[in-house]
Amino acid sequence: MDRDLYLHETFGCDDPVLTRILERMKERDMPPISVLPSLGRLLTLLVKTAGAERVLEIGALGGYSGVCLARGLGKDGTLTSLELSPTFAEFARSNLAEAGFAEQVRYRVGPAISSLASLVLEGARFDFVFIDADKPNYANYLEYALQMALPGTLICADNVLLGDRILDSANQDASVVGMRTFVQRLTSNHRLESVGLPIGDGFAIARVAR
Ligand code: SAH
Ligand code: MG
Repeated sequence: MDRDLYLHETFGCDDPVLTRILERMKERDMPPISVLPSLGRLLTLLVKTAGAERVLEIGALGGYSGVCLARGLGKDGTLTSLELSPTFAEFARSNLAEAGFAEQVRYRVGPAISSLASLVLEGARFDFVFIDADKPNYANYLEYALQMALPGTLICADNVLLGDRILDSANQDASVVGMRTFVQRLTSNHRLESVGLPIGDGFAIARVAR
């Protein structure tokens, strides 16, 4: 048995609701890039521990991470999820509804940059942000997240290792360059206290100072 399987089985990461989402995604030929079960559980724990009530997700796909985030919310908490694809957003919405979160989740369809600009204009505020969409825009997403963050807000990001491509300093792919910029801004911002973890494809957690 390998360590991932051991941890998966020992910590009971199997979950019928989430497994069903993955099965449906496979049937629809959607990319298998949802967060791993263990990272999903970490998202739930982080939202709960932070006591977050207004969660922002950037990149919904099939709603896997959305369900994990929503599970961490109290009954008055809300999840705002941004997704480029109308088809994915509709599919994610139905999965969140089936998981019991129909009243707590709102989707905004279109390029996340446009949705974020609208949210700023509307005066939206968030106490938990999960960035998991197109990598070249991560640094832009961070700027918007900071504009709408409350003191103590957690800003998390998936895929910060980019399949280890980030380790090659000569790599100039748009995703790698974008991720480098994001990590540089995250780690050099004096308002943020951050950590990078080797879970999944690399996961960053930063906290906005109070
Ligand atoms: N968070 C999801 C996985 C997200 S995969 C989970 O773990 O369950 C990345 C998602 O970002 C895809 O659904 C993709 O359609 C979306 N995306 C890509 N570019 C985007 C953009 N410019 N604006 C909003 N969403 C985008
Ligand atoms: Mg991801």
